[in-house]
Amino acid sequence: AGAAQRKTSPPPAPHLQLPPGTAAAGSGPGTRAGGAARRRVGTSRLRPEELRELTESFALSIRDKELRLPPWGSGGGTGSGGGGAEGEGLGDPACCRPPELFACPLCRRLFYEPVTTPCGHTFCLKCLERCLDHNPHCPLCKEKLSEFLASRTYKKTVLTEELIVRYLPEELSERKKVYEEEMKELSNLNKDVPIFVCTMAFPTIPCPLHVFEPRYRLMIRRCMETGTKQFGMCLADELKGFADHGCILEIRDVKFFPDGRSVVDTVGVRRFRVLSHGQRDGYNTANIEYLEDKKVEGPEYEELVRLHDSVYDQAVAWFTSLKDNMKVQILNHFGSMPGKEPEPQSNPSGPAWYWWLLAVLPLENRAQLAILAMTSLKDRLIAIRRVLIFVTRKRPR
Ligand SMILES: [Zn+2]
Ligand SMILES: [Zn+2]
Repeated sequence: AGAAQRKTSPPPAPHLQLPPGTAAAGSGPGTRAGGAARRRVGTSRLRPEELRELTESFALSIRDKELRLPPWGSGGGTGSGGGGAEGEGLGDPACCRPPELFACPLCRRLFYEPVTTPCGHTFCLKCLERCLDHNPHCPLCKEKLSEFLASRTYKKTVLTEELIVRYLPEELSERKKVYEEEMKELSNLNKDVPIFVCTMAFPTIPCPLHVFEPRYRLMIRRCMETGTKQFGMCLADELKGFADHGCILEIRDVKFFPDGRSVVDTVGVRRFRVLSHGQRDGYNTANIEYLEDKKVEGPEYEELVRLHDSVYDQAVAWFTSLKDNMKVQILNHFGSMPGKEPEPQSNPSGPAWYWWLLAVLPLENRAQLAILAMTSLKDRLIAIRRVLIFVTRKRPR
């Protein structure tokens, strides 16, 4: 037995050349009959590259006979020469017309990251999540999926995924391309930036959010998925939908509740101005440009530093003069006042203590918004000094 297994020189296996559909019928040189070839397959003495060819030929025949698809590479190129004839979806990538068995019932495209519900129905993960945002029931059979949603243990449907990898590789790579393009679009932080219309947010200041609306659940999920973890926060505006200025928030943590709601811990990053308004899948978007403070030099800078220091001292004096219960409330909600930075112009959004003060002072949103939009630190300092003087005078002695 040992003599037959000399590892250094394996038996010279014939090169398999199988035309589509013929499976393992013998087509090698000369004497070998079909039976012999089949026996070779049976004893698994194929070289790796032969096995690959064999699998491919099986795949081709399955494609051909069971899925009724044209073999790979035979015409069907996208938009090459008007081959489609019936005019159905000429511009659609192949993944938009998958065989019924591999089409997601929700998006009608080829399954992408397929998952199966406890009731046995299969969907793309993202499609199912979007459905569950609105209603915790199976979109097909209406079975209750609250527990499934609560556990959030979506398991891949491995068999479906493997069948797609093996038998629909071109459709899958098209589907991947569509997905990756979408992700790229969604991670743009200048164009069509997602906008949460809710409250005032300021650079460096934490902004906890309770997310329950389906459109914002989708938005937050996408921010996490693209990896930007950022979105814009704007105040509502009766005429325009949302205000012309806002602050980018960065997600630090998301806690999901079993019913799909979530508490999102965010912090302000930088200010922006809205250039144009838009919408995507139910939530608002905007093209934006970022705001940075204009820097000053020389005597103007000396003056700015003096103003900065004096307003800071005024702010500390005001906060120290507050009643204890007020102080505790503010500290619990906003944390302690950030310290004075050695260089007031070092941050393009200005010093952090300023935004803390603006968030804490009893000011109307509209006034806060006007200050947020200012790109002169000097103007902002003068504005908040007025507010400080006002609240200090107003307080009953
Ligand atoms: Zn889908
Ligand atoms: Zn179902």
